[in-house]
Amino acid sequence: MRIAMISEHASPLAVLGGEDAGGQNTHVAELSAALADAGHDVRVYTRRDDRYRPETVPMGDGVTVVHVPAGPPEPIAKDELLPYMEEFGRWLAADWGVGSWSPDVAHAHFWMSGLAAVTAGRDTGVPVVLTYHALGTVKRRHQGAMDTSPAPRIGYERALGRLVDRVIAQSQDEIAELLRMGVPRAVMAVVPSGVNDAVFAPTGPAAPRHERRARVLSVGRLVERKGFQDLIRAMCQVPEAECVIVGGPPADQLDADPQARRLLALAESCGVSDRVRLVGAVPREEMGYWYRSADVLVAAPWYEPFGLTPLEAMACGVPVVASAVGGLIDTVVDGLTGDLVPPRDPGALGAAVGKIVADDARRATYAAAALERARQAYSWRRAADQLGDVYTAVSEVRRTRAVV
Ligand code: UDP
Repeated sequence: MRIAMISEHASPLAVLGGEDAGGQNTHVAELSAALADAGHDVRVYTRRDDRYRPETVPMGDGVTVVHVPAGPPEPIAKDELLPYMEEFGRWLAADWGVGSWSPDVAHAHFWMSGLAAVTAGRDTGVPVVLTYHALGTVKRRHQGAMDTSPAPRIGYERALGRLVDRVIAQSQDEIAELLRMGVPRAVMAVVPSGVNDAVFAPTGPAAPRHERRARVLSVGRLVERKGFQDLIRAMCQVPEAECVIVGGPPADQLDADPQARRLLALAESCGVSDRVRLVGAVPREEMGYWYRSADVLVAAPWYEPFGLTPLEAMACGVPVVASAVGGLIDTVVDGLTGDLVPPRDPGALGAAVGKIVADDARRATYAAAALERARQAYSWRRAADQLGDVYTAVSEVRRTRAVV
């Protein structure tokens, strides 16, 4: 099939770790590659944010990234992109309408891509599949007045659930949320993200580590809701371990990053600064090097739509202590591949991490089960197969309707 991936802000070619570059970029890159491996022809449409970027860039066999001119060709924060989505959608419609490449299906990632895809789909008849990745209702609940999403987000997300041909939910928690929003269950298919077992494997080089201290690793964009501050507070209860945090801006820009400074100041005031280290952004291909150096991966977000980093750690044979929120409730099997703790609770987090760090047998058992689970249940090939079936189903329905 010809598959158009729409990912307005999250380019699969982006450097990760920055404020708007994380799981969605990885997801789109890996899913596109897996679909191409399965024989599909994939184009990823993302907004042109640099005037010198060529319009098309090949990304491995069978995947081409297309930079769509919508809005000024410069970086723009995700929350400022809504005004350009109409232009994005019209460009897609024109391209698919007259160009030599017209897709059988469009798969939009994030609600704004959904808007662009629906605009293009209306004019061209291309069916639209949507993965929200994150939901405005959840963000509003957790961030309240701090939520900088465009005001109409929640309304658009609700409407999209009824306009698109299929919604892809990534976890049981997301299904419940979508039902509360009024998205019909019949429109949903559940396909969780995968993990790349070539990049994330137990064998391979590992970052050097302290001789005597256990290593607690946490990975992600340095945004408040990722809960790094809770982890730093929890470290008081784990005196025998160091805490390494990967993500944020590149290492040489950490000094100027407000959130990095806040975290280091907190470590200082908690008396753990000699055991807390910020690494900065690391290229995705090198992430295995960091996971493999860890005794335990901590993911302590306040909320998390899916959460790739626990899966990546599990695929490297590293047990996980995670907040019992969102997608993490599905990926981490409590008491088997790791432990789930309440979010925003440094006491509970410290207790769980302390227990796992102190108990070699428990760690080894968790590690083996974590690896097994990542390999069995979360391969990208499985995700590509399941989505391939969804794409076939929606494009057949469209064809049948067109004939009738
Ligand atoms: N990541 C990376 N380099 C970094 C920090 C993060 O490659 O310095 C990757 C990480 O391996 C994962 C993604 O960014 O694939 C983060 O995804 P997650 O779902 O955990 O969080 P999100 O950013 O979507 O909120």
